[in-house]
Amino acid sequence: MIKSPRGTRDLLPPDTALWNFVEATVRDVFRAYNFHEIRTPVFESTELFARGVGEDTDIVSKEMFTWEDRGRAESDRGQSLTLRPENTAGIVRAYIEHKLWERGLNKFFSIGPMFRRERPQKGRYRQFYQIDAEVIGPAAAGSQSPARDAEILELVATLLDRVGITNWTLELNSVGCPADRAKFNEALRRALAPVVDKMCADCQRRAVTNPLRVFDCKVPADQPIIETLPTITQFLDEACRTHYDEVREILEAVHIPYIENQRLVRGLDYYTRTAFEFTHGALGAQNAILGGGRYDGLSEALGGPAAPGIGFAIGEDRLVLSLMETVSAESVMRKPDVYIAPLGAGMNREAARLARELRRHDLVVELGDESFRLKKSFEAADKIGARYILIVGGDEVAANAFALKHLVSGEQVTVPRAELAQRILQTK
Ligand code: AMP
Repeated sequence: MIKSPRGTRDLLPPDTALWNFVEATVRDVFRAYNFHEIRTPVFESTELFARGVGEDTDIVSKEMFTWEDRGRAESDRGQSLTLRPENTAGIVRAYIEHKLWERGLNKFFSIGPMFRRERPQKGRYRQFYQIDAEVIGPAAAGSQSPARDAEILELVATLLDRVGITNWTLELNSVGCPADRAKFNEALRRALAPVVDKMCADCQRRAVTNPLRVFDCKVPADQPIIETLPTITQFLDEACRTHYDEVREILEAVHIPYIENQRLVRGLDYYTRTAFEFTHGALGAQNAILGGGRYDGLSEALGGPAAPGIGFAIGEDRLVLSLMETVSAESVMRKPDVYIAPLGAGMNREAARLARELRRHDLVVELGDESFRLKKSFEAADKIGARYILIVGGDEVAANAFALKHLVSGEQVTVPRAELAQRILQTK
């Protein structure tokens, strides 16, 4: 038997109804904040992620699905391609490639699969889904303002609320600007020097190449050492500190609760200033539902104009898992309104006509078959959870009025054809 590859899964009904509910709600919220959808390719040049996410990050150094194109054309051959492990880099690439600032477009969202070769467990997959949002634009358009950071955070809170996720925690930090980071990395190098040989191999490498990434370490034995390291907060310059203060003041003004986590640096190199995560208790070890932050230098790092930005990525798999704590997928799946039971030879045609009429009224209709006995039709209607069964036999067609039975109450009425849709809609 051929199975789905390790770390991937099939999303099946009724769960897909919950996914669709989440996506529809999210789209409504984005509309209210004037975000527009963008869809970028699921694979990109490997170089985009090397430059956009950072060579030293776990994502780029260990987790990407990368291959060399074997195309026949000279221009394709040997090109290194990668399944996207995240989508900020792709969206910023598209922003630059299509000069989207010239069209005044600066708020984007996208929903789709991402790919990372991680060790699979509950809430962690190799193909997973993210709901991304990005605000990016020229500084003159206000894209660098702390008001944008606060708005993004308030948007996330609204979104989680509307979807029905309660009990989230917003963890907030500022990772400063590149100048702060250089000072911080120096201090980290000094602090790590006497202890690093007691740490894991990854940390020993990080201590040399990119000390900040030591904070990504999940090895339990390393945590007591990491606890003693300096934090970025002490190294923020005046402008970064003021920015961070302003973000927190707006959050307080709009009543969005948060906690500060000075060790939150996020696993991607491009973040500047505001970094955040929303966590949810129900998720266990993989408790981050979403993460994000500001990336003021990313556009330039990818060869574009100066365009400060801020964004986040929600792990949709984890969002749905959290939601399942309180909402059953069954309860959001729309059941058929009516099962049409053609009764006797020649009745399929009439049943098909009726189904077509009723579906035009936005009713969910399941169509039986004239070869079924009435008993079998009832069983089929029951099995799919239809509200009504509609009997289409010779007598009914002659009278142009049909037997409509409510399957829970057992009440049965004869309804003229012209009134059928109304009748079924009434009791929705
Ligand atoms: P990141 O791009 O690493 O900041 O991740 C943003 C969010 O995506 C996380 O908070 C998770 O909810 C989700 N996520 C990241 N990696 C995975 C994965 N392998 N499986 C499922 N969700 C993930």
